[in-house]
Amino acid sequence: MSTYSQMHIEILSHTPDPERVVALAARLCYSPLGGEKLKDALTQEKVERLLESVLGMGHFSVLEHVTFTFLIEGVSRVTTHQLVRHRIGCSYSQKSQRYVRETEPEFVVPPKIEKDLGKKEMFLNSCRESFTAYCDLVDSGVHQEEARYLLPQALESKIVVTMNGRALHHFFNLRCCNRAQGEIRTMAQKMLNLVKEKAPILFATAGAACARGPCPEGDKSCGRWRKKGEVNGNH
Ligand SMILES: Cc1cc2nc3c(=O)[nH]c(=O)nc-3n(C[C@H](O)[C@H](O)[C@H](O)COP(=O)(O)OP(=O)(O)OC[C@H]3O[C@@H](n4cnc5c(N)ncnc54)[C@H](O)[C@@H]3O)c2cc1C
Repeated sequence: MSTYSQMHIEILSHTPDPERVVALAARLCYSPLGGEKLKDALTQEKVERLLESVLGMGHFSVLEHVTFTFLIEGVSRVTTHQLVRHRIGCSYSQKSQRYVRETEPEFVVPPKIEKDLGKKEMFLNSCRESFTAYCDLVDSGVHQEEARYLLPQALESKIVVTMNGRALHHFFNLRCCNRAQGEIRTMAQKMLNLVKEKAPILFATAGAACARGPCPEGDKSCGRWRKKGEVNGNH
């Protein structure tokens, strides 16, 4: 059994010096200078000013020049299914249920179920029964790619994800929001914290829409953005 807090996320690799790359791309659009002279002229102070300007005016295409690759483990199939709905500027490699036979499955239990002993038992018993039936089918000669139809969505999965900077901003916008489901929101927030360590200016304004202004969710809004002093918070 595992819970949201046990998910493991790390950055496997990223574009070296991502903020400088984005700043150079932005500067080149509006400068008569060639690449070498631009590189020489690009002080850290100019990088910071350019990035703030690019993010402020919404010139997000220059963020497509940098990518971040994450290793994500300990999340449910519910969450990886939501993750892979993000199509643009994103690449995925996920543990296969066709080629890998499940032998020691972990089941991700949502916190509200996890903290109630009776519900947790009901949840885990159902997962285990499904898994037992899966094993019985495979042992009887059914290929795991067909037996897997029985496996619950709570089953833990592993996935490597690469997203460019623009796709990440969009992803954080939708999935750091309180309207997103708890597990993917936890995942998105952890990813945001990691990229902020690597590129703090590039992702300074990233997060739920209310990190920058009014909530676009209308009557479905959680109302948090209205609370004074919280418009800058990523929740
Ligand atoms: C709170 C929440 C609830 C959700 N509920 C549901 C639900 O009930 N059912 C459901 O099916 N999904 C649901 N989703 C998933 C959602 O519909 C999107 O599939 C997912 O968030 C990916 O977003 P995206 O399409 O903007 O991202 P991407 O696929 O990365 O696309 C990025 C952007 O590119 C543009 N784009 C991409 N593809 C096209 C295209 N074919 N034509 C034109 N423009 C395109 C759009 O501007 C899009 O925003 C939900 C998402 C959230 C955050």
